[in-house]
Amino acid sequence: MTKTVVDGVLRAVKKVRGGVKVDHHKNTAHKKVERLPIPSKVVIPMQQHIGAPCEPVVKVGDVVAVGQLIGDTDKYISAPIHASVSGTVVAVGDVKMPNGTMSKAVTIESDGEMRLWEGIKPPVVETREDLIKAVRDSGLVGLGGAGFPTHVKLNFPADKNIDTLIINAAECEPFITVDYRECVENSKNILAGVYLLKKMLGFKQVIICIEDNKPDAFGVLKDIADHEQDVYDEVKLMVLESKYPQGAEKMMVQSATGRKVPPGKLPADVGCVVMNVASVAFIARYVRTGKPLISRSITVDGSAIKKPNNIRVPIGTNIGEIIDFCGGFSKEPCKILTGGPMMGLAIVGTDLPILKQNNAILAFAKDDAVLKDETDCIRCGRCAIACPMSLMPTNIVRAAKAKDVDMLNHAGITVCMECGSCAFACPAGKPLVQHMRLAKAILREEGKK
Ligand code: SF4
Ligand code: SF4
Repeated sequence: MTKTVVDGVLRAVKKVRGGVKVDHHKNTAHKKVERLPIPSKVVIPMQQHIGAPCEPVVKVGDVVAVGQLIGDTDKYISAPIHASVSGTVVAVGDVKMPNGTMSKAVTIESDGEMRLWEGIKPPVVETREDLIKAVRDSGLVGLGGAGFPTHVKLNFPADKNIDTLIINAAECEPFITVDYRECVENSKNILAGVYLLKKMLGFKQVIICIEDNKPDAFGVLKDIADHEQDVYDEVKLMVLESKYPQGAEKMMVQSATGRKVPPGKLPADVGCVVMNVASVAFIARYVRTGKPLISRSITVDGSAIKKPNNIRVPIGTNIGEIIDFCGGFSKEPCKILTGGPMMGLAIVGTDLPILKQNNAILAFAKDDAVLKDETDCIRCGRCAIACPMSLMPTNIVRAAKAKDVDMLNHAGITVCMECGSCAFACPAGKPLVQHMRLAKAILREEGKK
């Protein structure tokens, strides 16, 4: 057995391999999500998901309303994009993305009214196909940061023997507290989403996973697991040890079910679907209202932010405007990230739009952002112990330096999820994640020859 039951709550007994203990810094956990005042302008990129970008379906001069479709594609792995404010389209063209690439975007000048598009109405969801179509139409992508189109994840073949839905409420990245706030503030939507997905997709069990550092959310989630709809006791709450990256899909599948996802495979290959808790709540809200994904909650925190907070912002809002709403910078920011400090993306400025998959903006002053001085490897093995994917990062670094494709493949570089646990554990200050990214680039380049 990999689990035990204490007071009606499952607890993982057999600890999963790897991971690191990080300081949680959940400074904004008590901050109720505040709504940002309507921005004067939003810049909405057509690439806000893993997969094919959308093409704009509006042109300069068009008047649009909140929730109106402004970008779509017939490619399967993608998600449509909707207007997040009402107003006039003032530009359709390329913009710089937070990751430095370019994307087509639709810029809307707000009329300050937030008029809802008249075509918005709740979808009819009576079958599995109805639900998957509704999720696609909603524009939902993984709100935990992955940005994978949710309709694709849910559209597994009916005969694939997928029996378990895992709800990820772990939020293991330091600083970020929006999922926690979702649990505390919007539990009715989570409850409705859990039972809707279970019924429509035929899951035999649902396991809601949360780390043991969020006791205030236990009661809320336990009520969901104990709800009268759960007549056969198939919905369970599982409390996991808090350690990073407990929220990583493969780690969570193993913690929750004891099933190990083999290298190169997905949770679906061992009968599981993992969904972020805010995404589940969103689906329930969409089915009730028909209002697509046009805003999201984000945590704004870090030592350079004057007033850390949780804010609900329209998609496409300028990051600088969001920071200003939080009082601006208290100190000169040395590092600004979208996402958490372990897996987030460092950005070079704040004149960038917030995307569907961004769950945080963090800004750190110099003292908290300077890297350790790098020294020689002392062969302590801590990087290998910390790796949740059982990799030996030093072997990968050696193979990358030698540009040895066979050795890189043998060392398993393709299963590295760039979680940063190895670098965090390294006493020699080795920038191991950068080495892993470089190794993947070498594999791609050498593979082409
Ligand atoms: S970044 Fe890659 S190698 Fe390092 S701990 Fe994470 S999965 Fe392992
Ligand atoms: S943790 Fe750092 S010092 Fe230790 S073996 Fe790994 S790379 Fe070397």
